[in-house]
Amino acid sequence: MTQITLVQGDITAQHVDVVVNAANSSLLGGGGVDGAIHRAGGPRILAECRALRASHYGGGLKEGQAVATTAGDLPAEHVVHTVGPVYRDESVERGTELLASCYRQSLRLAVELGARSVAFPAISTGVFGWPMESAARIALSTVRAELAAAGSGGGADGGLVEVRFVLFGSEAYGVFEGVWRELAEGGPAAD
Ligand code: ADP
Repeated sequence: MTQITLVQGDITAQHVDVVVNAANSSLLGGGGVDGAIHRAGGPRILAECRALRASHYGGGLKEGQAVATTAGDLPAEHVVHTVGPVYRDESVERGTELLASCYRQSLRLAVELGARSVAFPAISTGVFGWPMESAARIALSTVRAELAAAGSGGGADGGLVEVRFVLFGSEAYGVFEGVWRELAEGGPAAD
């Protein structure tokens, strides 16, 4: 049974098998989580991202998709890069599906890589502007559903022991905690 945990902290300091990066489609670095991961993980991550751009991902990585590289100097085995949707009032439904896809694809890839533990940031809630509570609901309900599907033979399974959400600051942590409690009590499962 996989545990879902919430911690407040810096994702680059997590000792987990897979760290998920809220990347942008260029795969060549950016601000927020992306910048922190490349700074802490060193140049090997960027070198592999460049190689991906030069091969299968010439046009960049699409929203909702995920791809893995080394974790370089991070205390992890792999970084899974995924591109969240930019929040737009006029396309929230499509964005919701893309954000859910980021979590599903990243989780599946982590399981394929044999991960026992995965750390996620709150994808799309920084520069990409997704409101935290809505993002938390999508993140937690998607991961929970994916793990439940794994339990009954579909979805991401394998030896995954922990899916950890790493929230930057007490405000984000509090929002995730509130939504998680609501979901546990059988509240609204998705936006
Ligand atoms: P996006 O472009 O997908 O919005 P960002 O990296 O700008 O991604 O932000 C995603 C979330 O990650 C934001 O809530 C931001 O506060 C948070 N964040 C920024 N740096 C870190 C970090 N080092 N560890 C964990 N979360 C972080």
